[in-house]
Amino acid sequence: MTWQHELQGGFHSPRTLLNFLELDEKGFSIAADKQFQTRVPLSFAKRMIKGNSNCPLLRQVLPIADEELETEGFSLDPLSEREFNATPGMLHKYHGRVLVMLATSCAINCRYCFRRHFPYQDNRVGRRQWLEILDYIATREDIHEVILSGGDPLMHSNHKLREFLERLTEIKHVETVRFHTRLPVVIPSRIDDDFIKLLASSRLKAVMVYHINHHQELCDEIKLGVDALRRHQVVVLNQAVLLSGVNDSEDVLVNLSHALWRHGILPYYLHLLDKTQHTSHFEIKKEKALLLFKAMQSKLPGYLVPKLVREDSYQKSKTWIF
Ligand SMILES: *Cc1c(COP(=O)(O)O)cnc(C)c1O
Ligand code: SF4
Repeated sequence: MTWQHELQGGFHSPRTLLNFLELDEKGFSIAADKQFQTRVPLSFAKRMIKGNSNCPLLRQVLPIADEELETEGFSLDPLSEREFNATPGMLHKYHGRVLVMLATSCAINCRYCFRRHFPYQDNRVGRRQWLEILDYIATREDIHEVILSGGDPLMHSNHKLREFLERLTEIKHVETVRFHTRLPVVIPSRIDDDFIKLLASSRLKAVMVYHINHHQELCDEIKLGVDALRRHQVVVLNQAVLLSGVNDSEDVLVNLSHALWRHGILPYYLHLLDKTQHTSHFEIKKEKALLLFKAMQSKLPGYLVPKLVREDSYQKSKTWIF
């Protein structure tokens, strides 16, 4: 089965997912699912614990009644991203690098994500936008790194990605291409031979930033992909989000770092939740986050301690919290 088949399959309704996990099929919110549709690949669901309604993987993807709350201080556009939309589909906010929203969808819909409200309709990146983005990058010689994000950039076929990368490669001052992606985590077969070849044959230095929040998300197949990437000098990092009920304990965070290391991945960032409306039940306050961070620091070698960060709308970098 190819990754495209896996993408089409999987769970698109909370009820079938709950049935698969042998849980009460009424334990979800219809309204929350309506607002942001359930989407979970089978491979990821298989890493959940059957019969456990508190499974940390399930909590990340199951629409629940808590999402129906409106919370003060949480917004539909917490990062004011609309303002930094230099050209549709691209954010130029930080020095030396741009973030391109290459795809508008994902293989999985994470409940805590800002994407549930982002006006993707207005940011659909078609061929014309690609060319505008490439033009923008070409005229600014201080841009050395292009970050492909989304949505999930690996939703595109290798063929499409090759086309974009080839054009990007022609811009001399671009040195690095970075992928922010969760696809290799939720559908590990996405890292296929063709994708590896694509990166291996490019002059651009490549960085993959995975998104894994809990050690239970890791599996042998993910490691196969990471091993293949690393054989071709691709750097593989991880960013996690600190989430209540998922990874807000010292043990889980320490285990996550160790498990990442065993799979050939280095921790990069541990993010505080962006204050996206309808996600406040996931929030961990800064004070508790700092305590967890210090606890990690006391148990892990420095290279396995991610930077604890928050994204602030008008800052020129992530804000380090310490
Ligand atoms: C997070 C982010 C980046 C990348 O930041 P790094 O600190 O280099 O990982 C770039 N642009 C935008 C708009 C971002 O939000
Ligand atoms: S952008 Fe990342 S966090 Fe958001 S839904 Fe997609 S995979 Fe999940």
